[in-house]
Amino acid sequence: MADNTEATDSLSSTAGPTSPLGRLRDLRWVLLVALAAGALAALTYDVPPAAVAGALVLLVGVALITPRRATPVPSIAADEQRNQRRMWPGTGMKVTVDALPMPCFLVDGRGITRYVNAVARTRYAAVRPGDPVSFSLRAPSLLEAFDRVRTHGTAERIEWAEKVPTESWFEASIAPIHLPAANGSAKSGANPDFILVAIRDLTEQRRLERMRTDFVANASHELRTPLASLTGFIETLQGPARDDAVARERFLAIMLDQANRMRRLIDDILSLSRIELRAHVRPDTYVDLAEIVRHTIDALSPLARDMDLDIALEAPAGEILVQGDRDELIQVAENLIENALKYGSTGKRIEVAIEPGRPSGWCLAVRDYGEGIAPEHLPRLTERFYRVDVASSRSMKGTGLGLAIVKHILTRHRARLDIDSKPGEGARFAVTFPDQGAAADRGAGRPAG
Ligand code: ADP
Repeated sequence: MADNTEATDSLSSTAGPTSPLGRLRDLRWVLLVALAAGALAALTYDVPPAAVAGALVLLVGVALITPRRATPVPSIAADEQRNQRRMWPGTGMKVTVDALPMPCFLVDGRGITRYVNAVARTRYAAVRPGDPVSFSLRAPSLLEAFDRVRTHGTAERIEWAEKVPTESWFEASIAPIHLPAANGSAKSGANPDFILVAIRDLTEQRRLERMRTDFVANASHELRTPLASLTGFIETLQGPARDDAVARERFLAIMLDQANRMRRLIDDILSLSRIELRAHVRPDTYVDLAEIVRHTIDALSPLARDMDLDIALEAPAGEILVQGDRDELIQVAENLIENALKYGSTGKRIEVAIEPGRPSGWCLAVRDYGEGIAPEHLPRLTERFYRVDVASSRSMKGTGLGLAIVKHILTRHRARLDIDSKPGEGARFAVTFPDQGAAADRGAGRPAG
């Protein structure tokens, strides 16, 4: 469109007095009619041919010397074309905007949306070219910035937050676009021909930042409590209880307990950050899930005895190969079975099963018959430091990081965690490992079908 317009502009700019040949071409029909009329006059009214020829020569002479009036029509058309250019973005501009990965609005100088790219059409369903941009973008700070760009012609970048339907953060880059003038010279300043509004969704980035700061705050808080207790006991032992052997023994036992709590916390925090570092790299080894689960049950049998609980295992015979990291999968099994022991002790029984996964792969399920979990807690259990009951978790030596670690390990393994529970009926934590193509090639431990 811009190219056509430029072609029309150059055509209209040459409309003025032209070459003698051009003038004769322009007047060819008048001269032809005059020639025919002269021939008719010579034949019908006996006009001498020399007189007719003389009249024709005179006519051609006048045609050659009369200055030609410049026709205003082409320049009006050019003006219209120019106005059109200012209202509708050209193909080049549209193709460029379409290539951008974020929602983009091309708005004209009057604030009317003239074009939106495909991403914006998906994100802002109601957007229609021809509507004022304020119909789709309502944030007051964005519209104010838009007006400033329109008035001053300088680019701006602003951020704003929206509360509805969920808390979200956005950033908009608002840039003026000046079309080159007809003579090709660049323009700038106020009243740009178009304004490009490109929007970036910052919600995910902000959530991650918030999660990080919350995590640091929570971790410091969790560490500060045992640290305060340790300091308190040290001061007591240095002062009033200096010569009290009985108190010293009791305090030292509590101090050891608090120091262990700090160690567990630091171990879990480090473990979490190590797993996070490798979050996007899927393990490339194959391990026997059945062996891992048997090993974990053996390791936890002293705790099970202490809690007076039986752990029953149901698994197909032979190897069950899954793509995974042995140490990390031991950590998963340990966390789930240990939680079942800690929080399901009223049920007297824990069932661990390895069964074909749905729709494919393998599923490791840990079921307890304890107090269960109320539905409102289920979606938050894998959040860092989230505990249904902080006191009971602490009394069980919990850090509140176990299930967060499980979730991170499973994400890396492309596995899924499903939690089912009803208060009073216990809980079932099920991990589904995806279908293992390479394991199938090795023909080991495949579920039937
Ligand atoms: P913790 O170190 O506190 O055990 P987890 O991340 O392992 O932390 O678990 C988070 C919370 O989920 C626990 O504090 C507990 O309230 C709840 N929970 C986990 N497993 C069970 C279970 N089998 N039965 C009931 N509640 C559970």
